[in-house]
Amino acid sequence: MKTIKSVYKIGNGPSSSHTVGPYHAAKTFGARFPAADRFCVTLYGSLAFTGEGHGTGKAIRSALPGAQVLFDREKADLPHPNTMLFEAFRGGERIGANRIFSIGGGSIRIEGEPSEDEIEVYPQKSFTEILKICRDRSLNLAQFIYRMEDDQLRAYLKTVWEAMKDAVRRGLCAEGVLPGGLGVARKAKTLYEKRCYNESADVTMNRVIAAYAYAVSEENADEHIVVTAPTCGSCGVLPAVMYYMHADRGFPEDEILDALAVAGIIGNVIRTNASISGAQCGCQAEIGSACSMTAAALAALYGLNIDQIEYAAEIAMEHNLGLTCDPVKGLVQIPCIERNAVAAMRAISSVNLSRFLYSTRKISFDEVVTTMYRTGLDMNEKYRETSHGGLAQIYQGN
Ligand code: SF4
Repeated sequence: MKTIKSVYKIGNGPSSSHTVGPYHAAKTFGARFPAADRFCVTLYGSLAFTGEGHGTGKAIRSALPGAQVLFDREKADLPHPNTMLFEAFRGGERIGANRIFSIGGGSIRIEGEPSEDEIEVYPQKSFTEILKICRDRSLNLAQFIYRMEDDQLRAYLKTVWEAMKDAVRRGLCAEGVLPGGLGVARKAKTLYEKRCYNESADVTMNRVIAAYAYAVSEENADEHIVVTAPTCGSCGVLPAVMYYMHADRGFPEDEILDALAVAGIIGNVIRTNASISGAQCGCQAEIGSACSMTAAALAALYGLNIDQIEYAAEIAMEHNLGLTCDPVKGLVQIPCIERNAVAAMRAISSVNLSRFLYSTRKISFDEVVTTMYRTGLDMNEKYRETSHGGLAQIYQGN
């Protein structure tokens, strides 16, 4: 398995390959040529055809302010369907260029260079193998992860956590209608402020966590900076619960970072053995994975044992099995935003069950991951991010 850093990518929503990858590429290229006074970026293939609508140019310019972005829809015979040519100039002279590919999930590869995201970091391929090592060496999951990854991981998780918090805070303050023509109004702020005088503690918790999930998902839909966890469409679930545990329940940041590491390894197992792509396996692969990662993170934060963490992740995925991807108008708004909030609450319920029932469980995490993958492959194409079925077809707007 690869580094868990590649599960968490920071960039503009709403698409990991069309906005997060290009943003990441622009940041990387810009850092290579700090002396440049002008940048030009040419987009090819899928990025040239759909990048305008997906906000690829905006994402690149937010990382490289003032960059010229061109859409070349003519060039064929590309090394990758999502190809970008980055050029740096100084005083009118070209001082450097790289072809960079957005290879999915927000990851990039620079032509002629190995991608950090593709290097094998974990020889283990399944959760069962990880569980065995942790037991044999008396390690908890976070300790195992830190031993396997390089010493940059902790700092990277800190950056990820800062970006998650920023997205929650920005989303809670923002108002207005999201772009794309559906007329969906932002709701996070209203939900956060809508306290009833006789609200129970449980209702408050669910309302506040849902508001955090809305906040981040609305930031994604508005093409602002989010963190894939594991995708843009499902980016609100994990930050919602972690932010609540930190800001409202007082869990320290050090422990939140460990919990993010645990969520990362769960996302990594799913990505390795199944898929985190709605286009490949439906929304179970996106929201189901996010729910599973969040349940594991929360269980770890509560100090539950590794069996309870595994069971929480398993429950969270099991009850998202079969979840279809049918975004209305192809926008990551309906049902996506609300779905993030529901998944955050489901992650909490999964932990509550696992805490008490883990010794009675029958299904392993690896088994549910395999089931999700096979279910996804069996799914009619209409329900795999084509917007040809489900809500996308039924909803006519009003
Ligand atoms: S419905 Fe589709 S686009 Fe929306 S969150 Fe789920 S997988 Fe992503």
